Amino acid sequence: MYNVALVEEDKCIAEKGCRLCIMYCPESDCILMDMEKKKAVVVVDRCKGCDLCMVVCSTHKAITMHPVDPTTGKVIHDRGAGETAGLGQAYAG
Ligand code: SF4
Ligand code: SF4
Repeated sequence: MYNVALVEEDKCIAEKGCRLCIMYCPESDCILMDMEKKKAVVVVDRCKGCDLCMVVCSTHKAITMHPVDPTTGKVIHDRGAGETAGLGQAYAG
């Protein structure tokens, strides 16, 4: 089980010129700019789950880490009130 980063578009202020996550991500071509939406977007397949982008975006909290189901390769979007429990279950698997 590993985590990947995802950008919450409504919190991302890339349209105001922020590129922090893109600058700090150690993986090349991993966080890109969606020029249409003017939002940062994570290329999930390239993300190594290092958390760095989430740390540098701590002011706007636009980036969250999500577990990936190892059997399906799909990102688990369980981020509701039961976030901790959801992650715990995911890690237990
Ligand atoms: S650091 Fe945060 S606010 Fe800035 S571009 Fe990245 S996701 Fe958007
Ligand atoms: S978690 Fe690390 S590798 Fe993944 S997008 Fe963020 S900075 Fe890049």
